[in-house]
Order: sequence, then structure tokens, then C-alpha cells
Amino acid sequence: MRGHLTVAGVTRRFGAAVVLDDLSIAVAQGEFVSLLGPSGCGKTTLLRCVAGLLQPDAGRISVAGTEITRLPAHKRNVGVVFQNYALFPHLTVAENIGFGLRAQGVGRAEAAPRVAEALALVRMTEHAAKPVTALSGGQQQRVAVARALVVRPSLLLLDEPFSALDRKLREIMQVELKHLLREVGITAIFVTHDQEEALVVSDRIAVMNAGRIEQLADPATLYSRPETLYVLDFVGQSTRLAGRVTAASAGAVEVRTALGAVRASGHFAPGSAVVVAVRPEAVTLGHGENTLEARVREISFLGSRTQLHLGLADEGDRGMVELPRLPEGVGPGSAVTLGFRAADAMVFPAS
Ligand code: ATP
Repeated sequence: MRGHLTVAGVTRRFGAAVVLDDLSIAVAQGEFVSLLGPSGCGKTTLLRCVAGLLQPDAGRISVAGTEITRLPAHKRNVGVVFQNYALFPHLTVAENIGFGLRAQGVGRAEAAPRVAEALALVRMTEHAAKPVTALSGGQQQRVAVARALVVRPSLLLLDEPFSALDRKLREIMQVELKHLLREVGITAIFVTHDQEEALVVSDRIAVMNAGRIEQLADPATLYSRPETLYVLDFVGQSTRLAGRVTAASAGAVEVRTALGAVRASGHFAPGSAVVVAVRPEAVTLGHGENTLEARVREISFLGSRTQLHLGLADEGDRGMVELPRLPEGVGPGSAVTLGFRAADAMVFPAS
């Protein structure tokens, strides 16, 4: 396994807790990879090991073919954008951006055009002389990115860089950052616990669970072909029904669920306890290759789409359908017929 960044078998413990558990990942040159997972799964710890702010107990980390596992942070040529930006409040925007260059001993004559270039890159040229304390959250965020990029790192690490921004601004900044990093062509690792954010910004997403990577894939694959129930639940929503396989042949199964029989593709022996899942937009009202009868419990209007939450008897089952618009006569308590294709039904072993 070789990449621009290669993490091989990294383990890190805090006391008795194994926070990174023999974790490996390879990130290609120019790739933007998110580490996604719930609080405490080890995302920040992995980032800190790559940055050199923490030492792994075992394993190796290399960048561009050179091992850096034991190299001090300041010798790694890795840029970091922290959650709180960590800008210097007593310095101007330009001075903040130029700080790393001065620390590297870059002279004034060379530093000035590089700071100007970084300012232009994040569209902050007109704010160069302002104190950073006079900037909005989004502007501070851009200064933090420019400050990390100006030293031309071979790797950029971002730890939840948008968590302090309101939703609207966050959505704008996500697309901007993605565009900016693509322009610069830099390899970047981005930590987030927000699955929507990961889907928006990433070339690939590493879904982490208890110090390991559960699945590493591009956003579309992760959403449409989650390999485990954990990934299914963490990325996107779904209708999921527990059931038992009643028939199996040539890669197809039939599963008995509380709502009726579901045909799906998959390799399971008859009698297996499984969970069948289907994404909300793959379900239509009316008969389909699979047809289930259910009752609407609640309706959420989300503007561009409407969600129907289904009332299900079995604890652990969940029902969610998304429609472009709410059909007339459907409301809380309505009986509905749901149709979906066998190819859209995913089957997982019951955990
Ligand atoms: P979050 O989104 O909350 O930051 P995370 O996935 O980034 O979560 P980490 O910050 O990597 O998680 O922490 C993983 C686990 O390691 C947590 O249980 C945390 O309490 C523990 N941990 C992290 N740093 C230390 C430390 N310096 N000393 C002791 N335990 C630590």
C-alpha cells in the first residue's frame, strides 16, 4: 500500500484505551480525504500523529516516500488548520499569513509576494492590513487556510475547520475549500463528525469506528454500497428492517420482515438473521418489484423534498421515505404502499 501519505499499522494508546488500533490508510497525491466518525473514534488522534504532535506506539507514517514517524512536527512540512484557527490576535491578516515564512527564515523580499499570492488565493487581499480580530468567522477561517498553505506544505491537515461557522456560511466554505485545494493540487486530510460535510468536500471518506477504518471509499460508493451497518447508519438515512432469509439462490435472497417479504441481492444462507435497508429516495409510493404496506407517523417538509417517517412495530426497525413532493391525501396516520427495486435493497448480517 503506497500513497503520498502512507499510514501503516499505527496504534496509539492512552492508558488502557486503544485509541488507534493497527490503522492503515494510503492517500494519493492531490487527494482530499475526510476522516469521518463519532466523537472519540480517534480522528483527531490520527491527525495529531500525522502532524507530529503525538507519537504512535506502533506503526509507520510516510510522506512522499520518506518516513516521518519520529520526525519532530516542525520538520515535517505539514500544514495544520485547527478547529479554533489559532490565529495570532495581535497581528494583522498579512502578518498572520507571513508568520510561518518568517519562522522558516524566508527573507522579506521573497515573503511579500508569497503572502500576496496566498491572500489572493483566499480572496482576502483587501483585508491584508486589518487585525484578525476585526474579521468574521469565515474570513478568519480563510486566513488560517492561507497561513497553512503559504509555506507550501506537502500535506494539509484540517481539524473540523468549519465547526465555529453557522450553517449557511459553512456550506459556502465547504465548496470554496474543495475548489481551492483542487486548484492548489495539495493532498489534504480533513477531520469531521458531520457526514454531510464529508460527502460535500471529499474525494474519499474514511469512516472510522473505535480506532479503525471501517470503510474507505468515494462518497457515492459509501452511500450506495456501505459495507457494514455501521457505515449505513453513519452516512445518510435509510429504511432498515430486521428479518430472516427465507430463500436464497444465485446471489438473490428473499427476506421476511415485519412489513412483508423483500427480495434483494446478496449471499446469505436461508435462516440467516439479517437487516434489509433501502435509501429514502429509492422508495416510491405504489407497487414496485418489492411492495410493502406501512403507515405514516410524521411528515417533515424540507423544501426541495418531503420526508415520510413510517410507524413501525418492531423496535430497531426504521422507516423513512423521501419524495420530491407530498402526494395529495397523504398525512400523519395514512396507510401507504411503498415500492422499491430489489437492486436498491441492501442486506447486512444482523449485528
Ligand atoms: P472528537 O470528534 O470528539 O474530537 P475524535 O474522534 O477526534 O473525537 P480523539 O480526539 O482522537 O477522538 O480521541 C479519541 C479518544 O482518545 C477519546 O476517548 C479521548 O478521550 C482519548 N484521548 C485523546 N487524547 C487524549 C490524551 N491526551 N490523554 C488521554 N486520552 C486521550
